[in-house]
Amino acid sequence: MRFIYVVLINLIIFQFITLLHAQDFDFFYFAQQWNPASCDSKIKCCYPTNGKPAEDFGIHGLWPNYFNGSFPKSCNKNVRYDETQISDLISSMQKNWPTLSCPSNNGTRFWSHEWKKHGTCSLSMLDIHSYFQAALALKEKVNLLQILKNEGIQPNGGFYNLEAIKKAIEKGIGHTIGVECNIDLNGNSQLYEVYVCVDKSGSNIIDCPIIPETKICNEIVEFAVFGSRNILDEGHAYSL
Ligand code: AMP
Repeated sequence: MRFIYVVLINLIIFQFITLLHAQDFDFFYFAQQWNPASCDSKIKCCYPTNGKPAEDFGIHGLWPNYFNGSFPKSCNKNVRYDETQISDLISSMQKNWPTLSCPSNNGTRFWSHEWKKHGTCSLSMLDIHSYFQAALALKEKVNLLQILKNEGIQPNGGFYNLEAIKKAIEKGIGHTIGVECNIDLNGNSQLYEVYVCVDKSGSNIIDCPIIPETKICNEIVEFAVFGSRNILDEGHAYSL
């Protein structure tokens, strides 16, 4: 009887440790998206109710990930998205983390989705306020647009070598990254998202332990402008 009791207790402890581990993570992807590319695609976009976003990268999310490439999601349904706890961050989120989904809205839906799916999986490191604050601080630290401009890569609806874009960013931040593309209305591959890797604290940039499996880019990609239709004519790009 005593033996069964000991085995049972050990089993419960083992399962508890496994559960704890399952909800932990190894590093973050900090995903930023090029706002104009979110709109220059077949997927309809709507500007947020507070106005058209800047021609800049916007935050998509801060995503806990495992070294093997998989990731935990929707880890704690009891920790809800409580906007009163991040009220001091909302104006910065409107600017730096703009919603582009339809119908036009104030961003709460997007931020709440990111918190529930990803944020609740890094509760071992960051509470809701630290989570959103960490993402905003990373956006300030990693100024992708400035880094690209410094290397002569301008968002002008033109086409650039993907490797040149990657190299410019990796030189700018000193670490390896991942890049994802989408397809514009004319069928061109365009720069869409950039993944920077961050350690578990949510503040130190690291080399990406594994590059995310994303929608692959062509060798030459467009760097779109808002409201542009780009026509490729004999290798030259024009913006309408
Ligand atoms: P995730 O679930 O974090 O991988 O993000 C994918 C979800 O985020 C999809 O439902 C997208 O429609 C949504 N999404 C991506 N970018 C935006 C954006 N800028 N505004 C609103 N929703 C977005």
